[in-house]
Amino acid sequence: MDIHSKLQILSGAARYDASCSSSGSRREGSSTGIGNTSSSGICHSWSDDGRCISLFKILLSNDCRYDCAYCVNRSSNEVERASFSVREVVDLTLDFYRRNYIEGLFLSSAVMQSPDHTMERMVSVVETLRREEQFGGYIHLKIIPGSSNELVRKAGLYADRISVNIELPSQASLKRLAPQKQKDGILQPMALIGKEIATNSLERRRTRLAPRFAPAGQSTQMIIGASPESDFQILRLSQGLYKKMNLKRVYYSAYIPVLSDNRLPVLASPPLLREHRLYQADWLLRFYGFSAEEILSDSEPFLDESFDPKTAWALRHPEFFPVEIQSADYGTLLRVPGIGVTSAKRIIAARRFSAITTDGLKKIGVVMKRAKYFIICSGSSWASTGSSPLIIRQLLLNSDGHQPSAPAPSRQMLLPGLHA
Ligand code: SF4
Repeated sequence: MDIHSKLQILSGAARYDASCSSSGSRREGSSTGIGNTSSSGICHSWSDDGRCISLFKILLSNDCRYDCAYCVNRSSNEVERASFSVREVVDLTLDFYRRNYIEGLFLSSAVMQSPDHTMERMVSVVETLRREEQFGGYIHLKIIPGSSNELVRKAGLYADRISVNIELPSQASLKRLAPQKQKDGILQPMALIGKEIATNSLERRRTRLAPRFAPAGQSTQMIIGASPESDFQILRLSQGLYKKMNLKRVYYSAYIPVLSDNRLPVLASPPLLREHRLYQADWLLRFYGFSAEEILSDSEPFLDESFDPKTAWALRHPEFFPVEIQSADYGTLLRVPGIGVTSAKRIIAARRFSAITTDGLKKIGVVMKRAKYFIICSGSSWASTGSSPLIIRQLLLNSDGHQPSAPAPSRQMLLPGLHA
C-alpha cells in the first residue's frame, strides 16, 4: 500500500481521539534543528469537524489485536487496515512541518502485536524526530496500556505531553466493553508518569540542565454514555486522577454509536449536553475550588441539564447568598454564578480604590444576568425582593444563557470510539 493510502486511513482513524490539546509547552529549538514551540507557541486551531489542525494527528497503525466494543478499529470489525513504518511517520511529520501545515505531532496507535511492540515503534518515531532530526515542534504521544516502565519513561523524555486513555469510568465497564484492557494496566503507567513529572520538576529546580519529562504534562480521555456510571462517579474519578496522578486534563468524549453490539446502549442521540456539563464541572474542580462531593451526591448523581453546575450549586445553597461584592474573599466570589476567575481577580483589585457599582461589575466582565440574583452590590440585592430559589430558577431559565440546548456538534459527532 502506498503512503498516501496509509495516510488517508490512519489520519482518518486518528480523529477519534479528542485529547488533542497542546498548551503549556516550552521547547526551545536549536540553531541546527527545526521547530520551536517557545517562540511561536502552539495555537489551538480547530477544523470544522473539531480536530486540532495545528498538529499532525495520526495513528501508527489501526491493525488492532484488541476488540473493544465501541471502537471502529476493533479486531472483529471489517475495516481497511494499515500501518506506517517509523521512517514514514518521521518523514511525513518533517514534510508537513516544513510546508507549515502543522506545528507538531499527535501520535497514537492501535495495539499491534503487543503493547511493548507498539510502544517501541512509537517511541522510535519520537526519538528519531528529536535526536536525529533535531525536531523542536510539539509532540503529544499516547501511551499504550501495558507498556513497560522503561518505554513509558523514554516516551516522556521526548514528548511534550503524554497520555494514557482511561477509556471507561470503572473496572466493570472495562471488563464488559474492553475485555483485553485492565484497570491496573491503565492506572499503573499514569501513576508512573505522575511520579516522574513531580520528580523532574524537583530536579529542574536544582539544575536547569536536567532533561525535561513531559513538560506539558499528562492527560487522559474517558468515554461518556457507553456505560452506566453516573456523573458523580465520573467526577470523583477525575478528582482522584487530578489529585493522585498529577494529571493536567481529563477529556470527556460523548459516546457516538457507530457499531452495533449488544453490550452497548442504544442512544437516541449522542450525550453531547452531558459531555458539555461534565467539562463545566471539571472546570469547577480544577479552577474554582469545588470538590466532586459539593457538585453532586449519591442522592443526586447526575448534573442538571438546565443549568451549568455552578448555577445549579448556587440554587441548592441559598444560605450562601447573597455575597457582598465589596468584602467577599476570592474563594467566595468564585462561587457566584456569572463571576469567573478573571472577574473575581478584577473585583478584588478594583475595590481597593473605590466601591464597585453594578456598571463597574459589567465593565469588569461579570455576567450580570446570572450574578444579579446572588450578590449585594452598592447596598442593593435581589434577595431583598424576597425572591425564592424557585423564582430565581425560573427567571434564569427564561434568560438566554440557560436554555438546556446541546452545544454545537463538535468532533465528538465523529467519535465511534477511541484507540489504544
Ligand atoms: S480502543 Fe484501542 S485497543 Fe481498543 S480496539 Fe480500538 S484501537 Fe484497539
